[in-house]
This record gives sequence, C-alpha cells and structure tokens, in this order.
Amino acid sequence: MAVGRESSTIGKTGRREARLPAGSSGLRRGSNLEHVADFNDSVVLDAIRRSRTGSSRAELTAETGLAAQTVSDVCQRLLDQGLIAETGTTSTGFGRPRRTLELVPASRYALGIHIDPATITYVLLDLSGNLVAHFSRQTSSPQDADVILAGMTSALDVLLAGSGIEQDRILGLGIAAPGPIDIAGGVMVDPPHLPGWHRVELVDRLHQATGLPVVLGKDVTAAVVAERWAGAAIGSSDFAFLYLGTGVGVGLVNGDIVVRGRSGNAGDIGHLIVDVDGPPCICGQRGCLGAACSPLFLIQEAVAAGVLPASPDDGQLVQAVRRVGTLCRAADDGDERAVAVLHQSARRLARAITTIGGILDTELVVCGGPAWAPAAHHYLPLLKPMVAQQFVMREIHGLNVVGTALGADVAAIGAACLILDERFAARP
Ligand SMILES: [Zn+2]
Repeated sequence: MAVGRESSTIGKTGRREARLPAGSSGLRRGSNLEHVADFNDSVVLDAIRRSRTGSSRAELTAETGLAAQTVSDVCQRLLDQGLIAETGTTSTGFGRPRRTLELVPASRYALGIHIDPATITYVLLDLSGNLVAHFSRQTSSPQDADVILAGMTSALDVLLAGSGIEQDRILGLGIAAPGPIDIAGGVMVDPPHLPGWHRVELVDRLHQATGLPVVLGKDVTAAVVAERWAGAAIGSSDFAFLYLGTGVGVGLVNGDIVVRGRSGNAGDIGHLIVDVDGPPCICGQRGCLGAACSPLFLIQEAVAAGVLPASPDDGQLVQAVRRVGTLCRAADDGDERAVAVLHQSARRLARAITTIGGILDTELVVCGGPAWAPAAHHYLPLLKPMVAQQFVMREIHGLNVVGTALGADVAAIGAACLILDERFAARP
C-alpha cells in the first residue's frame, strides 16, 4: 500500500525529511530510468505483498510496467535481503513453470505507539501487518511528558525483549498522537487533553532513545491507515474513521488517498454541532460533537440519570473514559436509564456520521477508539437504522456504519503501519 503521506521522519543518520503527499494507494507503475532502484524495489515489493498468493516475475513485469530484466534484478535484490522468498511454481500450460515469489513476513518488523491521554498502547507488527505483540499501560501522570517518554522507552525494550526479535529487524517506530502536531518538526504542540505537553519533540527524543527511525502522524490518520491496511476497510477507496476517545476526530480516505491536509492535522471535527440542546462547548456554542459525545458528558448524564454514583473524579476526562465501560455494563444488565443515556449519545453520533458521509460521499464509516469499544454493541444496532434514515444520499447509495476490526489497538497498529508504508510506498 502506498498511501499519501506528509510525515516527519528522522533516520539513523539524524537527517530529517519533510515528505510530500505521495498520492494514491493504488498499485504504482515502476520506472525504467537509472538511479531509481529504491523506487522500483518498493513498487515490486508492494505488488508482491498485495498478491497474497504470490506472484511470478512475468506477472510482476505485467503489473508494474517495468522491463523484465529490471524486475529480475529487483527480485534478486529483495531475495538477497530476505524480504521475499521463492515459495513454489505455477504452470501456465506452456513454457517453463514460473517460480512464485512471496513476502517473508518475519523478515522485518515495525513498532507502533499510540499516545492517548488515558492509555499508551504499544504494538509490534510483522512485514505483512500482522500483530505480533502488543500491550497497553494506563497513564498515571499524563501531564508529565518526561515521565511518559522515559516510560515509553522502557516499554519498547520490554516489548522487544519479550518478542525475541533483534533490533536490526525493526524498520522503525511510528507514533500516533493527538493533534495538533508539527509534522515538519516532529513535535506534539499543546494537545488539549495533555496540559503539560508544550511542544514536546517526540521524534527527536524517541530517535535518540531508541536509535530507530521515527515517524509521527496524527492519531486519526494512523487509524484510517490501519483500517485500510488490515482492518474493516481493506480495499475501500472512500471511507471515514470516526475516533472516539478522550477527544473525537475523523480520519478520511478520499479517492484512495489518505487526506492529511495542509499541515497533517486534518480531521478535527470536534465543533460540528450535533445537538442544539446539548452541553456548552469551550468554543461558545452548544452541542458540539466533541462536547456532546465526550466521555465526560456521557458520564455526567449517567450520574444525572442515577446510573452511576457521583465521584470526585467526575471532571477528569481520563477517568471518564474508564467509566464508560461501567455505564455500558449497567446497560448490559438491563438498566433502562443506562440504555437511554447511550441511546441519546447514539443519536448525536448518527448526526455526525451522516454529515461525514455526506461531505465525503462515502458508503462506509468505521468507528473505533477507547470510548467506542465498550459501547460498540449498544451503539451499532442503534446507529445503523438512524443513519439509514437520515442520510441525504440514501436514494443514491447507502451509508454503512461498522466498528473497527482492529479493536482498541487500531491507532497503535496505524502508527506501525506508517512505518511499513515507508518501506512499501514507492516515491520517485
Ligand atoms: Zn465547540
């Protein structure tokens, strides 16, 4: 997969590159010019990865538009690096049988970290995007960036030691972080739910701590990359990902391109008004999505309805995300008041989903994130008919709502996919 990119990377040389959007995820055509070996390697590697059942050199020549000799040379380089292997032969009925080339998933790996104010999630993926190892830690003092960063480095050591994989097989470390982010500088810039994080130079500091190439992307962008790589939207060229966590955001794929925006911060949908009678927002309006579908307000409503007891932590967003699970368990147990609170929340979400669907003219919205996961089995049966009824383009095409296929790890998996994308994406 070659997704559009605008990421900040810093490699082992310490050189930073501000990358330009590379365009579509569709199969890229190779170039027969000189000095483009890396580009052609990526084109061929991507074609082999996508084939799943393997490709012959003749098929790769036809698919990539490269000369047969170039494909042969590229394949030899990839074989020498252990990235692909000859796994069998196919017969076309005439001529010599053709040798099949397949990706070697265990040849390389990518690490991913998702920084959410409530939880930090770590994953290790193989070259095919399969989840090899993962764990998450709740953050005890999310305001202290230095403590969190030191914890990240030791957590990565633990993850790698447990996997038994040597560091020289790790392609790099991807980070999915809440916006706004400074892509060119590799910096998290005053994220609203992490008050102590003022211009934290994540990319430089994690590169220095790990020695790995590091890529930073916005959390919703990483999530949408993950859904297309390995999740609920494989093969979809137009879809949105609605992220519900301590904040809300939307990731977009339009015309097979990941929409990143001018600065890599696309997807801030928090001030879309979904309920004119909803709670006040910091922006001065009422019923913005970010406020009305915030875990904080959900818990506030649950307390007002008598479902949950009031708590001294009721103003704490991080605690509110955790209490969403308690609210959902009350609904599971048949508490009608809990069901009503979730129904009201679903009504507001449906408003956001139909708006996103209309703007993008898409047939698919995938939902996920820490505040979605415990409530998904309540939300989905409510959202599907609400959206079907409200969607303005319903006479032209439907709008399907599904939950993420990647669970709570979706943004962390997306972070690691940013690294795999670096390897697979062909950039002339
Ligand atoms: Zn607002």
